[in-house]
Formats: sequence, C-alpha cells, structure tokens
Amino acid sequence: WFEAHIAPVEIEGLDAIAMISLRDLTESRRVERMRVDFVANASHELRTPLASLLGFVETLQGPARDDAATREKFLGIMREQAQRMARLVDDLLSLSRIEQHMHVRPATPVDLTLLVAHIVDTLSQMAEDNGMTIHLDLAPNVVAPGDRDELARVVENLVENALKYGCGDDATKKSVEIALSRKGALVHLTVRDHGPGVAPEHIPRLTERFYRVDAGKSRAKGGTGLGLAIVKHIVLRHRGRLSIESALGEGTLFRVVLPAGDVI
Ligand code: ADP
Repeated sequence: WFEAHIAPVEIEGLDAIAMISLRDLTESRRVERMRVDFVANASHELRTPLASLLGFVETLQGPARDDAATREKFLGIMREQAQRMARLVDDLLSLSRIEQHMHVRPATPVDLTLLVAHIVDTLSQMAEDNGMTIHLDLAPNVVAPGDRDELARVVENLVENALKYGCGDDATKKSVEIALSRKGALVHLTVRDHGPGVAPEHIPRLTERFYRVDAGKSRAKGGTGLGLAIVKHIVLRHRGRLSIESALGEGTLFRVVLPAGDVI
C-alpha cells in the first residue's frame, strides 16, 4: 500500500511538471493491525476469567448460598481467577511501561552473576516441585549496564519457562542449564532445557504477545502469554539481542546477549 502526494513544481523551460511522492503504508498498516489484534486479544484474555467469576458469584448468591463446602470450593476458584486477571493486568502494565521507555537505555551497573544466583535461589522450590534440577555455570563479576528489575524479569521469565515447559519425561531430561559469561564487549546469558522443544514454525512467533504453542497448557500453568514479549522488549531496550534455538524432542535454548559493563 502506498500513499501518493502530488505537488505542482515549476522548472524553468518546462511547461508543466508535478512531483509525485510515494509513502509506503505497508508498515503503518501492519502496526495498526497489530494494535487492533492486541486490544482484541487482551480483552478476550480478561473476559474469560471475568465471565467465570460472574458465574460463580451468581451461583453463590443462588443455589449454593447455604452450602458451606461448595462455598469454600467456589471461593478458592474465584480467587484463582482473580489472581489470573491481576497477573495479566500487571504484565500489560509492565509491557506498556517498557514500551514507553524504549528510547532510553538504562545504564545502572548490574552484577548479573549475583542477580542470576539470587533468582535461581528464589525459584529452587518451583524446580523441586517440578522434579527439575538447575545447573549453574556463572562466571564471576559479570556486569551489564541496565535496569536491575527489568534484567531480573528477563532471567525470571526464561528460567520459569524452562521449568514449566522444559520438563522432559525421563530422568535424564529434567535439567535446566544456566550459563553466564563475558565474551569481549558482550555478556552472554543462556538458559537451556531438554524438554519437548518447539517446532520450527512456532519459534519466530514465540515473542509475539499472546502467542502460545499450546494455550491450554500455558493457562493451566498460570501463563499470561506475555512473558517472552516482555523479555524481548527489555532486551531491546538494553540494546541487546534475544535468540531462540529449539528442536522437537531435544529441548530449547534461549540466549540473551547484552553490552557488557565494567566490573563494579
Ligand atoms: P506463557 O508462558 O505465559 O504462555 P510466554 O510468552 O512466556 O507466555 O511463552 C510463550 C509460549 O512459548 C509458551 O506458551 C510456550 O508455548 C512457549 N515456550 C516458552 N518457553 C518454552 C520452553 N522453554 N520450551 C518450550 N516452549 C516454550
């Protein structure tokens, strides 16, 4: 799609001449399309738990009013639905805040070695619950200029995903390997699992908002479908790169490359 502007110009010696300028609209149409899809998806994601909440409220006000056991059970489900909506709204707000600040590169020195070790510590219970082991290979004093909370979010999302989706069926496939190193002017962080992996056609789309390979599995595990979109935006704001390699039956490798900073 192109938009044309026609403007008359006069050039000496020529009778009539007009200048036509063309503007490529393909990109702006694509962006507009994505915005419309995003609003529709977000509304749908909120609508589903909201409808379920309303249904339970009606049942509690009607048939289940005097049944204590049912009331307890329903209140538990309602709490879960409300928590799901809260997670979704939090993720939407995070994404929009990061997007608003894309042009400003955060520059506080962050010790990634300490940060990764701390986050793995906080996720050790989740790993145990999922029967997974985390192996760490962290070089000391790896520093990147950035925003500590945002970089923590990147590590947290990638490790949580590896623990959620990277769980293979036999014992040899129940490990997640996290490596951090400095290579020249760059920092490399990798999170590898040995789970079922992702088919090639899905890989480039994993960082799209609300894109999930298996929506039912993602929701059952409490996912909002925004985690990797948030990761990608944070990495880009830090002027870094995110790459994903995966093979069915082999597992998945997420690699974040960031500009390195001086040792604190
Ligand atoms: P969520 O986990 O909330 O669904 P994400 O944006 O974090 O959203 O991930 C998007 C999708 O990418 C997931 O639903 C899942 O299908 C896929 N995915 C993410 N990490 C992995 C992984 N380590 N192994 C296999 N699939 C993954």
